[in-house]
Amino acid sequence: MMKSRFAPSPTGYLHIGGARTAFFAWIWAKKQHGKFVLRIENTDLERSTQASVDAILQGIDWLGLNYDEGPLYQTDRFNRYKQIIQHLLDEKKAYYCECSKKRLKILREKLTKQGKKAKYDGCCRDKNLHNGVVRFNNPKEGVVVFNDVVKGKISINNQELDDLIIARNDNTPTYNLTVVVDDHDMKINIIIRGDDHINNTPKQINLYQALGWHLPEFAHLPMILGNDGIRLSKRHGAMSVMAYRDAGFLPEALLNYLSRLGWSYGNQEIFSINEIVKLFELKNINKASASFNQDKLLWFNKETIKSSSVKNLLSNLTWHLQNQGITIKDTPNIEIVVRYLQNRCKTLVNMACELKMFYQDFDTFDEKLAKKFFKDKIPLKHLLVELEMLNTWKADNIKEVVKQVCFELNIGFGRVGEPFRLALSGDGNAGGIDIVAELVGKNKALLRLKMAIDF
Ligand code: GLU
Repeated sequence: MMKSRFAPSPTGYLHIGGARTAFFAWIWAKKQHGKFVLRIENTDLERSTQASVDAILQGIDWLGLNYDEGPLYQTDRFNRYKQIIQHLLDEKKAYYCECSKKRLKILREKLTKQGKKAKYDGCCRDKNLHNGVVRFNNPKEGVVVFNDVVKGKISINNQELDDLIIARNDNTPTYNLTVVVDDHDMKINIIIRGDDHINNTPKQINLYQALGWHLPEFAHLPMILGNDGIRLSKRHGAMSVMAYRDAGFLPEALLNYLSRLGWSYGNQEIFSINEIVKLFELKNINKASASFNQDKLLWFNKETIKSSSVKNLLSNLTWHLQNQGITIKDTPNIEIVVRYLQNRCKTLVNMACELKMFYQDFDTFDEKLAKKFFKDKIPLKHLLVELEMLNTWKADNIKEVVKQVCFELNIGFGRVGEPFRLALSGDGNAGGIDIVAELVGKNKALLRLKMAIDF
């Protein structure tokens, strides 16, 4: 059984980089008809929080990255890690170290001054101690070589590697140990993660070897940069995946865009999730870093909204309608309204805002626009009279009436259209006034016109 995993540390929300890593690991599993595992790496008790766990689960859930196993928590597996650490100690592949922080600091400074790599000097290696931190006795010779699926062949001299700490003073195991034990025990075949971990991989490979375990494959994803060329971070604006939901993005638009950060397939930009699963290959991922661009993401969102089914839009809209306190009524039919709005709205926030005029009455207009468009009441009065007489309340007929008024008064379309638009919407945010008027309905449209005339 092929298995991939996403293994976040719950020290913050699910951010764009994490979401892409999770998505690529998820795609890979789907592609192989394998399994996708979600593992919460929470052994760093000081930095891990339940709020972060919840935020990560919520993000994964919103993106629709369903997992077959998990969420598994490393804190449930302390006994297993202890057992492995003891095993390494027994085999003399690990040892206790009692070096003080002060000694290590002095050592580090000395080595750095000499222009050498700041590595532990092995002071406690042969002391046979029984307390302190536990260090892995990294091989002192030879080379670690691995073939990264994305980055290609990578080799590191063991002399470069430290005797890394695998258990802290308080007995809690560290990341490099737990990740190896878990990936082995959970039978993970491929480790897909950000390339910020690439320096950990040789250390982990040595651990696999010391434990006599079969090696998984590794695929390290290139970094995501902000448009200023610096690694994407909070400085670049909305980073949490849920902030994108709040801003009106569709999860599949975000995923589509994330897939394009590092992966490409000809010139095609828009893919359905199924298409991505079909076409995606890890080996086609760029080695170089990718740039995150908000405007591009917005474009993906607009296109995805346009091509989305009304049903999908409605299910994603629910949260926004609740958030904005909008209650949908029987008329106009919400499906017709959404079908109309999907061609003009870039975000669901946008869509929810525009939905309001169909279902909510208002008692005033945008001040600035009203001053501008309601100054001359004559076009509005004419329009009201003509529309009152209109029997067939359909967009085409409404449009004819507007044209007719323009003709009679010998004025341009804007002189009638703009005030009408503001009257119908309250804030001027309406597209085709004829369609909007049809959907708002005759009664309401006329009432709003009267209100505009009285303004
Ligand atoms: N827990 C690590 C992190 O959040 C990821 C570990 C891994 O994927 O190997 O950065």
